[in-house]
Amino acid sequence: DLSGKTAVITGSNSGIGLGIAWELARAGADIVLNSFTDTEEDHALAAQIASETGVTARYLQADMSRGDQCRGLIERAGRCDILVNNAGIQHVAAIPDFPTEKWDAIIAINLTSAFHTSAVALPMMRAAGWGRVINVASAHGLTASPYKSAYVAAKHGIVGLTKTTALETARDDITCNAICPGYVLTPIVENQIPDTMKEYDMSREEVIVKVMLTRQPSRDFATVEQIGGTATFLCSPAAAQITGTTISVDGGWTAL
Ligand code: NAD
Repeated sequence: DLSGKTAVITGSNSGIGLGIAWELARAGADIVLNSFTDTEEDHALAAQIASETGVTARYLQADMSRGDQCRGLIERAGRCDILVNNAGIQHVAAIPDFPTEKWDAIIAINLTSAFHTSAVALPMMRAAGWGRVINVASAHGLTASPYKSAYVAAKHGIVGLTKTTALETARDDITCNAICPGYVLTPIVENQIPDTMKEYDMSREEVIVKVMLTRQPSRDFATVEQIGGTATFLCSPAAAQITGTTISVDGGWTAL
């Protein structure tokens, strides 16, 4: 039961972040949603979580590519017992053609943001005597694919940050772990389908089955509810001694 705890989930107005927010709310945690936009729909998502689960839920706009705004998000939340570093973007190109601004944005949003949010959240967790940091890495935090240099580098980086955070908090009833999803059918994956169709001259179905899910022995996407359930488990008493490690939710990808 997570009642009385506040969870801040970065990049949570869609996809996996939103799925994690829903599952943590169902477990009783108050929720802070975030993205870089500030629309009526963003605030409506928080209102819907609050009305359906009975927790308090807010939406706070902050751009995770900016260190000051990452820190400001946690400060404005006021309390952060559960920090989920989830915001992430993707760009696919060979290294010689990889735009430098895309490289910089991916490293900033997918990796450096977690350093800034953790820097502000960890003292709050220590003061509260309990905390959980969950970094959403990827199967690409443990393995590589061509044309995803920045993403693979950032995700391997966040696995390293996860281990260091765990060591620095090991005596404080704070844990830090990384969830490593395989393919989950969210906008970030949906957006890769058209380019991959062009690149391999394949239909949408062929791209899904022959390119994406060939890496995933289950031949099935993981769901945002499953990632949310894994995050909720990491906040449960059963997981209190799990720290500094990765949990793959990838249908067997990293066993291959
Ligand atoms: P998504 O595109 O639905 O979600 C990304 C979220 O990050 C969105 O809410 C978006 O608004 C937010 N975001 C992007 N830039 C931001 C910024 N500058 N500031 C604040 N928020 C920002 O995709 P998703 O699949 O839900 O991705 C969530 C995380 O899961 C990412 O870190 C991604 O790398 C990781 N992941 C996804 C998959 C997958 O197959 N979908 C697999 C492994 C890991």
